[in-house]
Amino acid sequence: MNCPRIEVDLSKIRDNTRTIVRRLGQRGIGVTGVTKSVCGHPAIAQAMLEEGAVGLGDARISNVERLRKAGLTCPITLIRTPMLGQVEQVVRLCETSYNTEVAVIQALSSAAVRINRVHGIILMVEMGDRREGILPRNVIPIAQQVMDMPGVTLKGIGANFACLGGVAPNADDMAALSDLANEVEGMFGPTIQTVSGGNSSNLPWALSRQSIGRINDLRLGEAILLGVDPVSGQRIENMHADAFSLIAEVIETGAGLAPAPIDMAGPGLAAPCLVPDRRKTTRLILALGHQDTDISGLSMPMGSKLIGATSDHLVTETARATPKVGSEMRFQMNYSALMRAMAAPDIEVELLNDRPCWASRTTHNNAEYLRLV
Ligand SMILES: *Cc1c(COP(=O)(O)O)cnc(C)c1O
Repeated sequence: MNCPRIEVDLSKIRDNTRTIVRRLGQRGIGVTGVTKSVCGHPAIAQAMLEEGAVGLGDARISNVERLRKAGLTCPITLIRTPMLGQVEQVVRLCETSYNTEVAVIQALSSAAVRINRVHGIILMVEMGDRREGILPRNVIPIAQQVMDMPGVTLKGIGANFACLGGVAPNADDMAALSDLANEVEGMFGPTIQTVSGGNSSNLPWALSRQSIGRINDLRLGEAILLGVDPVSGQRIENMHADAFSLIAEVIETGAGLAPAPIDMAGPGLAAPCLVPDRRKTTRLILALGHQDTDISGLSMPMGSKLIGATSDHLVTETARATPKVGSEMRFQMNYSALMRAMAAPDIEVELLNDRPCWASRTTHNNAEYLRLV
């Protein structure tokens, strides 16, 4: 089998989605499955949809295009404010986009009118992460402008937390977002369908006993894919943390360790330290490097230690029986390693527990599909 490769166990992604959809459903919150870290991989997206994600979100139009080309007809939201040069594609491929700039919404409006569509706008409000968003006090005037534009409709508001700032939202932040939704509706009537409360970092709040107010959507990537809370790094109860593995091939095992040269003039001489006895360990080189993934985001298999990596080589040390050249090693990935590995051109994605012909079973609308024969 080809190396390096990512093995994706789709049944674990289905399990994770089902678990989280059920728990949030009890609280009145729907799940938008976020596919950006898997580059809009259609089978992974489909696994999320099959278990109850109400739609998909992605940050890049190229990923959305991939989903559409694979035959997915579910609602897709662009969760990064569109680039001006892509507004027509955004209107064509996405029902909705997140927006923070009036100039972009105007361009979406013109594009929508041109191709005879109505595009949904969700205004992203800055609630403290300091990445993207409209300041709360500007939401009403911008909502007013959106209401006055043809071809676009104000569908909701949203906020993002713990992306740039790394701080998880608290109940006060979420209450403020709900109040803002009420304020917009106080001005313009019942326009706000979606109040999107954030990403995976919001799960502790969403699953607590605090009132959820108007929040009826969360956009979840990491929690579904890796089963972890991004803020604490802890595994979420009853979720699989091993749906993905990265597998690389051992290309050298015999590396005899030359003793490190002793720098007589260096300060090391004055402070002797213990070094591990390397005679009992073996150094391995794997065909994997910084060009493929975020090496610091890999967890080493039991008994192995990361020595270092370059663009194309990963050096590890193992105290176990020496594997043969050509054998494989399996790593777990964190979010950063996963998103880079999924985008790496030399890494193949292998699907486990796939359901064939899934495109023909996409049932989010009544369109007809071609069956694979
Ligand atoms: C990436 C992203 C998400 C999903 O984040 P996860 O931590 O993977 O759940 C949600 N919303 C926005 C705007 C994003 O950019």
